[in-house]
Amino acid sequence: MDTRQQALFIIFGGTGDLAKRKLYPSLFELYEKGFLKENFAVIGTARRPWTDEYFQEVVRKSVTVEGTSKEDADEFAQHFYYQSHNVNDTEHYVTLQKLAQRLDEKYSIGGNRLFYLAMSPRFFGTIAEHLKSQKIVTDNGYNRLIIEKPFGHDLPSARELNDSIGRYFAEDSVFRIDHYLGKEMIQNIAAVRFGNNLFRALWNNRYIDNIQITLSEALGVEERAGYYETAGALRDMVQNHILQIVSLLTMNMPASFTESDIRREKIYALKALQVYTPEQVEENFVRAQYAGTSGLKGYRQEEQIADDSKTETFVAGKLFVESENFSGVPIYIRTGKRLAKKTTRIDIVFKDVPKNIFGPEKLGKNILTIIVEPEGEIYLQMNVKKIGQNFGLQVQKLDLLQSENDDSPVPEAYEKLILDALRGDATNFTHWEEVAYSWKFVDAIRTAWDKKEGPLVEYTSGSMGPHEADDLLAHDGHKWVFSAED
Ligand code: NAP
Repeated sequence: MDTRQQALFIIFGGTGDLAKRKLYPSLFELYEKGFLKENFAVIGTARRPWTDEYFQEVVRKSVTVEGTSKEDADEFAQHFYYQSHNVNDTEHYVTLQKLAQRLDEKYSIGGNRLFYLAMSPRFFGTIAEHLKSQKIVTDNGYNRLIIEKPFGHDLPSARELNDSIGRYFAEDSVFRIDHYLGKEMIQNIAAVRFGNNLFRALWNNRYIDNIQITLSEALGVEERAGYYETAGALRDMVQNHILQIVSLLTMNMPASFTESDIRREKIYALKALQVYTPEQVEENFVRAQYAGTSGLKGYRQEEQIADDSKTETFVAGKLFVESENFSGVPIYIRTGKRLAKKTTRIDIVFKDVPKNIFGPEKLGKNILTIIVEPEGEIYLQMNVKKIGQNFGLQVQKLDLLQSENDDSPVPEAYEKLILDALRGDATNFTHWEEVAYSWKFVDAIRTAWDKKEGPLVEYTSGSMGPHEADDLLAHDGHKWVFSAED
């Protein structure tokens, strides 16, 4: 028997949105693909007084889409058990320990446990402590803690949170989820960079002019307004997803494609981020809020948002990784809500050829674009000859649309990450040191912003942000490769 298929999942926040929308469907996919078979069980816990039967019904519903086999969904749901549990109440952990022990025996699980904390981080320390003190962690198998963002709201709070977990779980058993790391095209960055001599040779400050990273959303804050008002785009998107992408784009080639070597290089890249002074923040970062339009509320008019809120729904910035290979390469980032289009993309803009023998017209730029969403795509912009008697050049794109070249279904990020956690592979999870260096960078920006008086600039819904975000690049003689018209 493959012991990696033996696992007891204990999901804290088992009645919540994340569990229903992402975790149960991902576990079902793993079940359907044979990564989970007979020897697994799932305990869902939360305060609501659900029964096992009701919980199984919720699970069946959440995994059923068009074409789902009813028989498979029924069989899968039978592995699910519910325990009503307030995480602050020690008594409940006693019951949980007994249930876990019973299921471990019933399904011959051998002590392997994955604790998924799909709830507010303010409970993480308490849960970790009780898992240890009430002996819900086992001696005979592995015990892994999977935790969700946000990991703190600044470096001191993140450190406090990390200490509260670290007292009971060693770093190598803590799996911090950043679901962007489970995305197929984000994982493709390493394949493109280190699998092709062409790019390996060019991937440095001698050939790369600038890098652009865009994570744009078309929707406003919607039902997440309460949380968003306390976070803002900088904490919600830059501290984690964007800086993780920056580290994957700028890390040195790892000695091997293994967890420890990759993480070492990512940590080094994040450590090399230039941390800004307040004056540099002013020069290099832009924040803004979306304005209302006819029919759509502006950010400050949304429910649960203060009339004088200074929470940014858009950030653009220029940052530098001061490593040997990337020193001097501007990395432009932007993210925001109510923008022209939902997309995640990376544009690597290469330097011009040293001498243009075709002049006087300027040559088009070589740009490598990696589109992560909505559909996985990679293209390379090149100059080629225009067909005809005369010699003229034109810009063309070599295009690789993932879905056209490979019809294997793209697995959900959560599915891939849960499988990694089952296998004990933390490559695509965030190490504490990555979290710490990211906060250090972000805190410098937040601190400078918090001292600034006056309202934020506004941008039109459906645009790509305020003109200040374009000015940031124009100032360096650059422009965003992706625009609202694309
Ligand atoms: P949610 O829908 O509000 O779920 C929170 C869960 O915690 C519920 O199951 C709730 O159930 C339970 N809970 C709250 N207080 C409890 C207590 N004292 N004891 C026991 N259970 C308690 O939140 P969510 O959207 O699923 O998010 C969960 C975590 O994932 C958050 O940290 C969030 O930031 C993160 N996250 C979520 C998403 C997403 O797509 N939803 C994406 C990224 C990260 P009861 O009310 O029944 O107790």
